[in-house]
Amino acid sequence: MSDSKPNIPFQSAVMPKALSAESRIQFRCHGGLSCFNACCKQADVTLTPYDILRLSRRLGTTTTAFVRDCTVPFQMDGDGLPGVKLKTDDSGACLQLDGESGCGVYADRPTVCRYYPAALLALREKDSPKAEERYSLVKESLCKGHEQPAEISIADYRAEQGCEAFDRFNREWYELILKKKSAGPGVGRPPRTSLQLFFMASYDLDTFRRFLCSENFRKSYTLPDDFYAGIQQDDEALLRFSYRFLRQVLFGEHSIQEVAHAWERRVEQRREIWEARRTFEAERHMAAEDLKDGAGGDGGCGVA
Ligand code: SF4
Ligand code: SF4
Repeated sequence: MSDSKPNIPFQSAVMPKALSAESRIQFRCHGGLSCFNACCKQADVTLTPYDILRLSRRLGTTTTAFVRDCTVPFQMDGDGLPGVKLKTDDSGACLQLDGESGCGVYADRPTVCRYYPAALLALREKDSPKAEERYSLVKESLCKGHEQPAEISIADYRAEQGCEAFDRFNREWYELILKKKSAGPGVGRPPRTSLQLFFMASYDLDTFRRFLCSENFRKSYTLPDDFYAGIQQDDEALLRFSYRFLRQVLFGEHSIQEVAHAWERRVEQRREIWEARRTFEAERHMAAEDLKDGAGGDGGCGVA
């Protein structure tokens, strides 16, 4: 079993058996149950990039403000691959819970919340290029949904909960994480800059958009003008491009054409800046020394 699935609420209660889309579960959740909202009062919800996009737009804010105000960071692996979870209050209750009326962002609730009490597992057989989707079942004693006399297949439950729209965007991201994890320690820890780019391109798409539209980026990659027009208006196109960009950054899969010698030019420009700074620092130091020498004289201003 892969450990690349998103975290799910009450992880310790995940039943280890892998289920298929055809597997049937006994479960029904509704507002009349005594446990209504209990799961959201102990929320442990890992977010995907698409979750953040949906939630930030729902709340009428930027991804930057959403990540800052509504999430907490964690490390997804020993290499410090950054992840984010929904923020809770001190008692563990999700901040999106709207009093006793339930989820305040229900139509745009995250993937993990949609799947609950099922959990999606992205598995990859050794040497297989594709991840395979399986499911597990979370059984918590506080959740009375399992005691309801209703059966449903995982496939129907996914459809009922609107999971497919989310999975369409999540799949590629899970593949990225799986690939990073299965690369193993031999590949080494990604450089700090790659981890920062991973964070920005995964979770803060509004900043990523500004990064792509910056002069530096435009000078470095040969992307057509309509690409820039597209990502200005279309969040989903931007998200898809972010996966492509991350494949290039993390695995060197070159699908975005670089401008010839752009990297060397950037290094050269930086060198010029460093040299200008060094000269400036040296001159400032010499001026300060001159001033000290002058201040030590009798006249106090260099006049005998
Ligand atoms: S986002 Fe909504 S469904 Fe998910 S834990 Fe928070 S309140 Fe519950
Ligand atoms: S039945 Fe389970 S999922 Fe539904 S409200 Fe109760 S604890 Fe939450």
